[in-house]
Amino acid sequence: MSVSPEIYLDMDGVCVDFIGAAMTTQGYDADQMLNGWRNEHPGSLYPEPLMDKTAMEFFTHINMQSSEFWSGLIAYSWFEHLYEELSRLGDVVFLTAPTSAPGCVSGKLEWLIGRFGNDFTDFIFTRHKDRLAHPNAYLIDDMPFNIEPFVARKGVGVLFPQIWNELSHIQDPVPHVITTLEAAIGR
Ligand SMILES: [Mg+2]
Repeated sequence: MSVSPEIYLDMDGVCVDFIGAAMTTQGYDADQMLNGWRNEHPGSLYPEPLMDKTAMEFFTHINMQSSEFWSGLIAYSWFEHLYEELSRLGDVVFLTAPTSAPGCVSGKLEWLIGRFGNDFTDFIFTRHKDRLAHPNAYLIDDMPFNIEPFVARKGVGVLFPQIWNELSHIQDPVPHVITTLEAAIGR
């Protein structure tokens, strides 16, 4: 009997709109900034000229250290469809890297429990995603720096299209991810 594919699902930038919330909590107009990012800096990991502060300043802002920030992240419109489709193809486990703020872990756990219930256990918090790689492990992630080490350790990486990566031209991310994953699994 074949073992079901193990699908590791990143949260920020794939399931939830982390970047929009990070902009809003720092006083940016998120829609306007994301449009500028898409139109003027597609594929850029962080458009510093647009944001007018360094990536370090932006990503370590004090408002992003509370658990409320993380538990309050809004799911993307495609999240439920993505999760359903992935669940059809394998065993899905959320795989998410915490920041150095302890509130990040508790807030993300709260987000998952709020959606899936108290007995939900399908999640792993680690910054070492590549340690989970093997030939039947599939990582869905928006960051090339997570995909590359996972592939180097013989896992299968599927880059999730976002305006900050090389797939910024793809309009509809879920069909792209599912088609790519099905091909990788061999369906
Ligand atoms: Mg991510």
